[in-house]
Amino acid sequence: MRGLIMDQPQLISNLLIHADFVSGDREIVTRTVEGPIHRYTYHDAHRRARQLANALQSLDVKLGDRIGTLAWNTYRHFEIYYAVSGIGAITHTLNPRLHPSQMTYIINHAEDAYIFVDLNLVGLIEAIESELPKLRGVVIMTDRAHMPETSLTNALCYEELVNGHSDDLEWPVFDENTASSLCYTSGTTGNPKGALYSHRSTMIHAYASALPDVLHMGEREVILPVVPMFHVNAWGIPYGATMVGAKLVFPGALLDGKSVHELLLAEDVTMTAGVPTVWLNLLNHWREAKTRVPSLKRVIIGGSACPESMIRAFQEEFGAEVRHAWGMTEMSPLGSVAIAKPRITNDAEAMRKQIKQGRPVYGVEMRIVDDAGKSLPHDGKAFGELQVRGPWITSGYFKLDHSEAHGKDGWFATGDVATIDEDGYMEITDRAKDVIKSGGEWIGTIEIENHVMSHPDVLMAAVIGVPHPKWDERPLIVVVPKTDKSPTHGEITRFLDGKIAKWWMPDDTVLTDELPIGATGKVLKAKLREQFGNHKLPNGN
Ligand code: ADP
Repeated sequence: MRGLIMDQPQLISNLLIHADFVSGDREIVTRTVEGPIHRYTYHDAHRRARQLANALQSLDVKLGDRIGTLAWNTYRHFEIYYAVSGIGAITHTLNPRLHPSQMTYIINHAEDAYIFVDLNLVGLIEAIESELPKLRGVVIMTDRAHMPETSLTNALCYEELVNGHSDDLEWPVFDENTASSLCYTSGTTGNPKGALYSHRSTMIHAYASALPDVLHMGEREVILPVVPMFHVNAWGIPYGATMVGAKLVFPGALLDGKSVHELLLAEDVTMTAGVPTVWLNLLNHWREAKTRVPSLKRVIIGGSACPESMIRAFQEEFGAEVRHAWGMTEMSPLGSVAIAKPRITNDAEAMRKQIKQGRPVYGVEMRIVDDAGKSLPHDGKAFGELQVRGPWITSGYFKLDHSEAHGKDGWFATGDVATIDEDGYMEITDRAKDVIKSGGEWIGTIEIENHVMSHPDVLMAAVIGVPHPKWDERPLIVVVPKTDKSPTHGEITRFLDGKIAKWWMPDDTVLTDELPIGATGKVLKAKLREQFGNHKLPNGN
């Protein structure tokens, strides 16, 4: 027997309709790309999104068309999210840090009809426009006064487009399984692959992300997503925050420690989110300027493993709780959050849980399997490939008939190697492709890195495998020193002694000025292996 409940599609436009209704006066603040701070409300955003939706329809944008964005976190980008998806077209966020050849590939693969571009990123499209046969035009996200000279053939002005149309629009209603946005994985191996989200998946993800034990979003929160809107939709914050009417603060193009700090402070931000590398800059700024942000209660850190030293810095020095989270582009992206259970009151035990990647968010099922695909126990020791399934996890890649990661039995293979403990906390040992194979056994690099980064003289560290005649591979530490005092290999191994298994102890340490960082702020291990692959270990022959 079916329940007698209305069959109403879950559509992204409903978020903005609702926010306008109940939190219409709540602010959205932006550091604009042009410079000044811009402020308006959910009510204004809804009105302008409707104007933009009318403008898109006048450009003949139809259901299912892909509309690219090459833009920072701003109110205009927010309006585009809602206007494009609201009329059933697909927002396709592009990462400006990608190599031009990858950007060209992605735009052509997605067949973007229009691209909305921020003022300081116009050059990126100019450089490749001749290689984009399907592109019908580019909208430059500024007003007439700031329109640049451009070689683009069909360059439109964003403010003229919006202001040239009325806000008289009823958001169309369609199937909730309609595609809403498209985000490509960073493609460290092979071409980037497209994760195509639906209205339904985005809405369910928004509900889940707002929960107190997930991102804890509510109307009283002031949320500054440092994580870019081109990095898995800023982890869904532009949707979840709108659902609850939180005040949003968009940092625009300035993501250095000082600029982020100023905005956090000026707007009384209570919660922020980003990858570990951006927080190093903020923490440095706080320490140097001897300052902090008293209103800040929570920092969401994910995208790569958050070292214990960073968790301690935020919590113990600066009074903000860290929520370490794990996810993937293919997962919209939220998978798990590491918060200590209520029963855990001991600080050391709580920290041991926080450095793990956490327990699955309701909606995500998880399992670890061995090579034969058999489920492994939850004992915190057995490790295997992590697989997931759920209503916001991709079932395949855009325009790709076959994906090895999407198994026939309905599980998605993450490519991460992990353990799950008795309490349900998942801990990533490594990306399968980064794990070190030594004498037939695996050495996980994340745990070693975590310890090395707690060394007082280490700013950043990565551990990679380098070839070894007897053991196949042995670990090498690559360190960016924190101060003028460079730590020696002996100092680091003494520091690691007792913290990791003896046979995991790295064979050597090299110092470097910086680590190669990819388009989403992660250390590029493949680049490091190219760079240091021929490193001669002291006992290597
Ligand atoms: P990107 O986020 O760079 O676009 P992916 O979606 O491919 O690319 O990144 C997902 C991967 O990032 C995960 O499979 C995992 O390896 C890594 N990752 C994400 N969050 C964490 C975390 N908290 N700890 C460790 N690794 C993480």
